[in-house]
Amino acid sequence: MPAKMMQFVSVEQRLPDKRSVVERTHDFGEIYREFTPERAREQAARCEQCGIPFCQVHCPLHNNIPDWLMLTADGRLEEAYEVAAATNNMPEICGRICPQDRLCEGNCVLEKGFRSVTIGAVERFVVDTAFERGWVKPVRPLRERGVSVGIVGAGPAGLAAAEQLRKQGYEVHVYDRYDRAGGLLIYGIPGFKLEKPVVLRRIRHLEASGVRFHLGVEIGRDLAFAKLRRRHAAVLIATGVYKAREVVLPGSNLPGIVKALDYLTASNRKGLGDVVPAFESGELDAAGKHVVVVGGGDTAMDCVRTAVRQGARSVRCLYRRDRANMPGSMREVQHAEEEGVEFVWLAAPEAFVGAERVEAVQAHRMRLGTPDASGRQAPEPVPGSSFRLPADLVIEALGFDPEDLPTLWGAPELPTTRWGTIKIDWSTMATSIPGVFAAGDIVRGASLVVWAIRDGRDAAAGIHRWLEARARGAEAAPRELALAS
Ligand code: FAD
Ligand code: SF4
Ligand code: SF4
Repeated sequence: MPAKMMQFVSVEQRLPDKRSVVERTHDFGEIYREFTPERAREQAARCEQCGIPFCQVHCPLHNNIPDWLMLTADGRLEEAYEVAAATNNMPEICGRICPQDRLCEGNCVLEKGFRSVTIGAVERFVVDTAFERGWVKPVRPLRERGVSVGIVGAGPAGLAAAEQLRKQGYEVHVYDRYDRAGGLLIYGIPGFKLEKPVVLRRIRHLEASGVRFHLGVEIGRDLAFAKLRRRHAAVLIATGVYKAREVVLPGSNLPGIVKALDYLTASNRKGLGDVVPAFESGELDAAGKHVVVVGGGDTAMDCVRTAVRQGARSVRCLYRRDRANMPGSMREVQHAEEEGVEFVWLAAPEAFVGAERVEAVQAHRMRLGTPDASGRQAPEPVPGSSFRLPADLVIEALGFDPEDLPTLWGAPELPTTRWGTIKIDWSTMATSIPGVFAAGDIVRGASLVVWAIRDGRDAAAGIHRWLEARARGAEAAPRELALAS
């Protein structure tokens, strides 16, 4: 008998259980436990099955959320998995790290009076169950086309495109400068949000599907872009954005001031069992230190929470706007506060102080002034408000810009926008160079995993259409010539 839905009046919203602060801050495991099957069914059955599901409208992948919720409530988990996997190449990852409060759940109609359906947690439960029960099968294309596509970047954009193209029977080669595939999923995002075995399981699935990875290969250094183009019928650029924004202030060059991604990568590598000299030397280890993280986005939240787990003496986050105006997810701020992070709102650094290495951050108070061009109130310093915070380790988490690919790759013909991102036609994800496409952060600027997946899927569709049209053209050409002669 089908499950009874619309249980939101009698059943309260319950997220999966969160591990206690004491337990979770002593390791890098995810902070939420898995739903039990009973809890997943109960929570899925809260869905109202809206005629116009705003959750789906606001999911960048337009996942068929009401259907998988109904199937989960019904105990038909394999079908729920099929529905979830139909529009998303890594639903178990999105279920863990999408900022659901800004996307699907934030737009669930229940959010107003009854608190949203726990969409992300159900998505994670369904797909983890599918992996456990062997329902996630490698891709087996109906036919092999004998046409190859080269993808630069093994982050979520490149991986999503790789799987979609394999489904169409293309030979897919993914190049990455790192020694592991996954991009920011493996070396950026910490394990307490996304455990690494979850990422590695996805990569193994892609390998089993026939995707070929060429790791430790940097395009522009180890392999020229022009050569890559000659190797493959089409090329996708999915290289992400990695140029860290910096604050140039007195004392900026002091040892002990590090970039967020260097810090997080070292921590993730340690967790994966690598030897990391800059960590062993203490340069990228927060243990026993007073840590100040500058910035208010999700990267800053990942840094403060990593520092807590490494055993820092104190962890402070300095942000120039207030809580209401910070870009990071509110859920992440709440987790950080629970874990003992102190937020110093409306404050910005004016100098880094120290003799041999950084010893303190000199900061001043800020207030929010008139709105700027983007509509956000511009922060301005409060005169005479300077104060100092002790700091043995300062982590700058101020965002990322694209690297200058045309110069790095010796490819001036590669079109870019004024922000340095690759310029594409959004309807096809094609650049103005025939056969060259781009997707993910390198076209959007620093964004989200779910948008990278969406772009990767769109790019795979664009590449397929382009290659099909080219093949039709090649077939048509001799006939046209014959007719003309
Ligand atoms: P990436 O994941 O950056 O992958 C690009 C890949 O290209 C990398 O592996 C890189 O090594 C490779 N590459 C680059 N240049 C070359 C080259 N020349 N040759 C070969 N390979 C190259 N998003 C969320 O949705 N939720 C979160 O919780 C979240 N947390 C984040 C935390 C941090 C610390 C950071 C930095 C980002 C976070 N994001 C989060 C954003 C998300 O990770 C990115 O939007 C997403 O990974 C972009 O995917 P991508 O495939 O475009 O690029
Ligand atoms: Fe929500 Fe992200 Fe899943 Fe879409 S992919 S349903 S936004 S958690
Ligand atoms: Fe269900 Fe909420 Fe989506 Fe409506 S908006 S279909 S209640 S999850």
